[in-house]
Amino acid sequence: MKKIYLDYAATTPTDKEVLKAMLPYFNIEFGNASSLHSFGRNAMDAVTQARKKTAGFFDAKEEEIIFTSGATESNNLAIKGVLRAYQKNSPAGGGKIPHIITTAFEHSCVLKACQKLGKEGNAEITYLPVHSDGIVKVKDVQNAIKRNTLLISVMYVNNEIGTVQPIAEIGKLLKNINKKRERKIFFHTDATQAIAYFDCNIEKLGADLLSMSAHKIYGPKGVGILYIRKGTKIDRIQDGGDQEFSLRAGTLNTTGIIGLGKAIELLQKTKEKNAHKIKKLRDYLIKKILKEIPDAQLNGSLKKRSPNNANFSFLNVEGESLLFYLDAEGIACSTGSACSSGSLDPSHVLLALGLKPEQAHGSLRVSLGKYTTKNEIDIFIAKLKNILQKLRKVSGKVLQEYYSQKNYELFKGSD
Ligand code: PMP
Repeated sequence: MKKIYLDYAATTPTDKEVLKAMLPYFNIEFGNASSLHSFGRNAMDAVTQARKKTAGFFDAKEEEIIFTSGATESNNLAIKGVLRAYQKNSPAGGGKIPHIITTAFEHSCVLKACQKLGKEGNAEITYLPVHSDGIVKVKDVQNAIKRNTLLISVMYVNNEIGTVQPIAEIGKLLKNINKKRERKIFFHTDATQAIAYFDCNIEKLGADLLSMSAHKIYGPKGVGILYIRKGTKIDRIQDGGDQEFSLRAGTLNTTGIIGLGKAIELLQKTKEKNAHKIKKLRDYLIKKILKEIPDAQLNGSLKKRSPNNANFSFLNVEGESLLFYLDAEGIACSTGSACSSGSLDPSHVLLALGLKPEQAHGSLRVSLGKYTTKNEIDIFIAKLKNILQKLRKVSGKVLQEYYSQKNYELFKGSD
């Protein structure tokens, strides 16, 4: 059976060219990039090239790119690092604790970091609503700002429903607000799901900090970056060596960094063409599913959506069962973020949109990539129809009764 992979938002296969670029650095040029001998210097030269390419992609300076183990670490460093620098420079016990603004549907690494800081009494946290279309409103950001606001963290593209947030507009708003403030509000965006499809020119975005992971763009897993605008007050959160401008201790992941650089180089060449092709397939998929499958809805805005994402809720089925039956047919999708599958709690993203737990439970994320074909989409839809019919026959009646008791109403939202 030929397998069909429709989970590119969870991860992507490493591109052959990326792999080829990485290989010599495992066992030929294997030196520690911090070593002073030729092995080390050769490794560092390759890291420097990767840093140059990466900085170029974001229109940033080389010293503004910090290599990390991925977006989870980058997000933690951005949030905790900015807070730590603030704590270090403010008089003990003086003034109010700093205020951080984020959204209700961030990736769990941002949400949990913020929740922890809030619980420990180190920061006051505001979680902005994302409304039924899955978009944060700039006005809500503006209204949430207080005198003690230190940091705003809003993701660029949501990993579950693919909705695109108005990052450049928030950046513009903050630029104006910061002109009149004594203490700057720093702006962080988690661009992990955005960089394959959207403009990441850092000046246009106006962000001070930006996170991403290489494995979402056909690069290797376990490597990413945190862009840090020059002048941003941030402190390291990990003690050890002085790598990465003393902001991230630990031996450089040379092979990973080289793979990231190559993936960025390939992305730069193919971004527009791939986005166009993938969007066409996605629109075909969405149209066909909503037309041909009863009681199906698209979660999140259609217009302001990543070209590779389609997230549906199917009435009277459980997402977990759907996933299981699709997997048995060789088709890989997701019921939410890969990081939270394995948990039976309904997705916090879908709940933030206003979906009821029952609707969130019947959700399926289908994410496409550069290797997806129309034939794969057609096979997927045909199999999905069959599986839904079977599952609804078995569980439909029970679930329908359960929902009707709860005054269940099909969510109509989104354009
Ligand atoms: N942020 C977003 C938006 C993501 O999609 C992911 C990966 N699912 C992460 C952060 C975490 O990335 P990683 O697991 O590579 O650290």
